[in-house]
Amino acid sequence: MAFKTIDDLNDISGKRVLVRVDINVPMENGRVTDATRVERIKPTVMELISKGAKVILLAHFGRPKGEVVPSMSLEPVVSTLADVFGVPVAFASDCCGEPAINAIASMDIGTVLLLENTRFHPCEEKNNPPFGKELADLGDIYVNDAFSAAHRAHASTVGIAEHLPSYAGRTMQAELEALEKGLGQPQHPVMAIVGGAKISTKLDLIGNLVAKVDHLVIGGGMANTFLAALGVGVGKSLCEHDLADTARDILAKAAAENCEIILPTDVVVADGFAANSPNKVVAADSVPSETMILDAGPETVGLISDRIKSSNTLVWNGPLGAFEIEPFDKATVDAAQCAAHETRAGNLVSVAGGGDTVSALNHAKVSTDFTYVSTAGGAFLEWMEGKTLPGVAALG
Ligand code: AMP
Repeated sequence: MAFKTIDDLNDISGKRVLVRVDINVPMENGRVTDATRVERIKPTVMELISKGAKVILLAHFGRPKGEVVPSMSLEPVVSTLADVFGVPVAFASDCCGEPAINAIASMDIGTVLLLENTRFHPCEEKNNPPFGKELADLGDIYVNDAFSAAHRAHASTVGIAEHLPSYAGRTMQAELEALEKGLGQPQHPVMAIVGGAKISTKLDLIGNLVAKVDHLVIGGGMANTFLAALGVGVGKSLCEHDLADTARDILAKAAAENCEIILPTDVVVADGFAANSPNKVVAADSVPSETMILDAGPETVGLISDRIKSSNTLVWNGPLGAFEIEPFDKATVDAAQCAAHETRAGNLVSVAGGGDTVSALNHAKVSTDFTYVSTAGGAFLEWMEGKTLPGVAALG
């Protein structure tokens, strides 16, 4: 995975640098409620400013589907950008045309300008070539710091890069370097944990992992589909019975690839999907027909912990149980704490990501102990699926 970084930029004083960022921040009543995404792009923006660049931010916000939707304007984010960067931030009411051209023409060296939502134009998501060129004409250099949008071949992530020298920003660089350690050039033994609700949404992911990792834990609701495919009764559990053949194919592929599959050997069963629903631990092959599996049991967690301790690298997506409702968070929390401990001790490179995984690791209070936790949902999953991300390929 070759890409250029800001280190490859020479004299950029007075240059117009177009920086694609992810500032798709949560908002309530027109106010930003969590500025984490803005904090993440700060190192790139400040570094470019300190080198005398004119920093022009390009971003999307929400899904306006190619139309101007006032509630999806980026203007309310301007004050948060200014607060976090500690410098004034100007705003242009369109990401192209006169408003953008005029605002850029009046920029001083070392200042920041935010352009309006790129997705207000239908050409953005279609990666329409003239639109990519129009965006590129606004600047001299392109920097992409939005890994979370890198799985989309849009004008602001791909089209623009065809016309300008293109570089990864610091956040993109950190993400790519962490991912490289996770699956690109990992230190073996490599272990993966894949959990969550259904295998139907994670078939590509599992297919890629069995070819790359030494041990694959399958947990959460999707483990039930595998248990059922092996002829085990799973009672009222969430289970995709129609995917039994697919599950058996995956097990056969794993055996051919020498990938050990770890399925639950014991499980926590409950009467219903509710917090503190009456529950008990049973062997995975003895699930009472009127109950549902909501978590992995202690024996399984012990097995997973042993593998974590003997692995050098761990990649993780998806919880091992219904972690949002107690006490069915236990397997996820215990395994996460084991991985955090091994990472802190310097024995493990741990890379995790995907929407629910981030909440699960936050819940286990270990997010900062992992080597890297990616907040880029779709892009992280596509990377785990072994797909080339067009926004990253464009930086090569
Ligand atoms: P995903 O978005 O596919 O990663 O799935 C995450 C969701 O899977 C979470 O909301 C969990 O509550 C749910 N989940 C995990 N294990 C189970 C289970 N055994 N039964 C039902 N839902 C589960």
